[in-house]
Amino acid sequence: MNRITQCLHGRGTVSGVMHHRHTPQEQVPSKYLAYTGRRRPVVFWNLTDRCNLACSHCYSRSGPDRDTKNELSTTEALSLIDDFSATGVPLILFSGGEPLLRDDIWELARHAQEKGIKMALSTNGTLITAEIARKLRESGIEYAGISLDGAIPATHDRFRNTQGAFERSIAAFSRCREAGVRCGVRITLTKENCGELDALVDLAKTIGASRFCLYWLVPTGRGMDAYHRLQLGPDAVTGALRLLYRKAQETEPGVMEFLTVDAPQDCIHLLASMELDRSPDLNDARALITSLNGGCSAGDRVANIDPQGNVYPCQFARSPEFLVGNVRERPFSELWDDASNPVLARFRERPVPLKGRCGRCGHRELCGGGCRVRAYVASGDFYADDPFCYVQEEPGDRTT
Ligand code: SF4
Ligand code: SF4
Repeated sequence: MNRITQCLHGRGTVSGVMHHRHTPQEQVPSKYLAYTGRRRPVVFWNLTDRCNLACSHCYSRSGPDRDTKNELSTTEALSLIDDFSATGVPLILFSGGEPLLRDDIWELARHAQEKGIKMALSTNGTLITAEIARKLRESGIEYAGISLDGAIPATHDRFRNTQGAFERSIAAFSRCREAGVRCGVRITLTKENCGELDALVDLAKTIGASRFCLYWLVPTGRGMDAYHRLQLGPDAVTGALRLLYRKAQETEPGVMEFLTVDAPQDCIHLLASMELDRSPDLNDARALITSLNGGCSAGDRVANIDPQGNVYPCQFARSPEFLVGNVRERPFSELWDDASNPVLARFRERPVPLKGRCGRCGHRELCGGGCRVRAYVASGDFYADDPFCYVQEEPGDRTT
C-alpha cells in the first residue's frame, strides 16, 4: 500500500508512530498499525462469494448465483474470531462477494467488537440503507470502503453490470456519514475509467469520502479474464500517480487521504516526486517506507481468508500455488506462525531474491520488486520481474 498522504505529511505520521510505539495494540489508531513493528496480520476476510452484482473485474468471481453451502458456518466464523483475538489480529476487513449478504454479519461484528478487534467493511454500497448504516456503527464497524468505478453513472454501471448501481452507491456515502461511519472511495483504475480519475476525486470530496483508495488491476478471478484488455500502460499509470500526488498536495490530510494499492513500486514514484519538489517531508517519507521492510505486506502483515476457510497471503493470491492451509484443518494462529510453511516463507523472505529487471534494479529493496502475484502469473516464476512496473530502472549493485 502506497500511502501518499501519510508520506506527503510525513512528520505528522512519524511523530504519531513514535508516540504509539509502546501503546497496547488495541489502542493504536488504525492509521499507525502498519508501522507498529508488531507483526500480527490485518485479515482481509471474504465472508461469502455471493454478491448482488457481478462486476467485470471481480477478483473472486462473485455473483448472485454462487454456491454458498461450503462457506464457514456462523459457529466456525465465531471461533475463527476467537482465534484472531488470541493471536493479536488488530483489524479485520470484512469483504466478499458482498459481505452484507451474509445473514450473520452483525453477530460476527459484535463478537469481534467484544474481543477488541477493529473492523472495516469493503462493500459495493448498494445495500446500505439508513438502517444498515446505523447497524454498522452499532456493531463497531468503523469504516466502509465503497467501490466507485466511474465519475458518471454510465461508466460505473457498465463495470458493475447493473443499471442504477452508481446512484445507490453514492447514496451509501450520505447514509454512512449520517450514521457516523467513516467511508471512502475504492476505485480499480483501468483503460475504461482512467479518463474520469480527476472528476472522481472531486466527486469523492463532495460526497464526504475520507479516503481515496486506488487499486491497480491484478490478474485474479474475472480480473484475469479482462486483464490484457483493461490493464493500463506506463504513461497512463504515471499520469494517474501524478494526478493523485497533486490532489494529495491540495487536500488537507484531515479531509481526505490518498492511497494506491497492489503496486509497491508506487513508493518509488512518490519519493521521486517529493525529491523533485524538494519536499521537507522527504526524509520522513523515506523512513516510513523503509520501516515497512521492502515491498508488499502479503503473507506477513496481511492475510486473506476465503469463504471456505482457505488462508492465502493476500486476497489476490488465491490460486492453489499460494494456499497456506485451511482453518478447518488447522487453526489460523498455528498456520500463520508456522515458519516452515513454504508459501509464507517465500512471501516473507527479505531481501526478495529477484531476477531479471527487478534483480538489477536499484530500487528493489524499497519496493521488493513490485507484485509477486503479477510476476508469477506472467511468467510462472515467483521471483521474476513485475511486468506492470513503469519505473525507470536504476542500476543497482547486483547483476543476474
Ligand atoms: S502480492 Fe500483489 S496483490 Fe498481493 S498484496 Fe502484494 S502487491 Fe498486492
Ligand atoms: S523494476 Fe522491479 S525493483 Fe525496480 S522499481 Fe520496478 S518493481 Fe521495483
